[in-house]
Amino acid sequence: MATNITWHHNLTHEERSKIIGQPGATLWFTGLRASGKSTIACALERKLLEQKIQTYRLDGDNVRFGLNKDLGFSEADRNENIRRISEVAKLFADSCTIALTSFISPYKKDRDSARKLHEDANLPFIEVYVNVPLEVAEQRDPKGLYKKAREGLIKNFTGIDDPYEAPETPEIVLNTHEKSVEECADAIISYLKEKKIIA
Ligand code: ADP
Repeated sequence: MATNITWHHNLTHEERSKIIGQPGATLWFTGLRASGKSTIACALERKLLEQKIQTYRLDGDNVRFGLNKDLGFSEADRNENIRRISEVAKLFADSCTIALTSFISPYKKDRDSARKLHEDANLPFIEVYVNVPLEVAEQRDPKGLYKKAREGLIKNFTGIDDPYEAPETPEIVLNTHEKSVEECADAIISYLKEKKIIA
């Protein structure tokens, strides 16, 4: 633990938002593997950037190549994975960027910690539940991982031998077995406009 450290202030978030012209936020995508988190976050990132809205996507697998390459998939490592992502997303949101995080984030308490971190700093936190029945996720299985998990080749696999705790009161629910990628991305954009996070 570091001691003898103090927080160094400069601009408030409000001052920064005024200068940049957008407040920033974290959109926290959660859902089973293959529910569509990355696909929708990518489509949304592109749409927002095309409108010149500063956006950055923190992707589950991508972050494990760098920042979190020392972490595995045990419960403790998943907690630490989410803790670090929460802190990084908060920094992006504080910089007035729209941070899109796409991680399974199966445990409610981890998502609640991420929310609290943002709320304590007065930064918008929007939980996006990317919902799909397990059977549909298994049929999609774009990386063949469900098949491997069913064969016992991958342990601690969410939905198979590890739980997924569905959000109880997410800001946005996207049923990806019923709506297209385009419709899901547009539903998020409507929400952001309604909340005045984007113009
Ligand atoms: P996750 O990031 O949740 O693991 P991915 O986005 O990597 O999921 O994979 C989702 C798969 O489901 C992709 O192959 C995508 O093309 C497909 N898919 C089908 N319909 C949808 C939809 N409505 N929204 C998102 N993905 C969809």
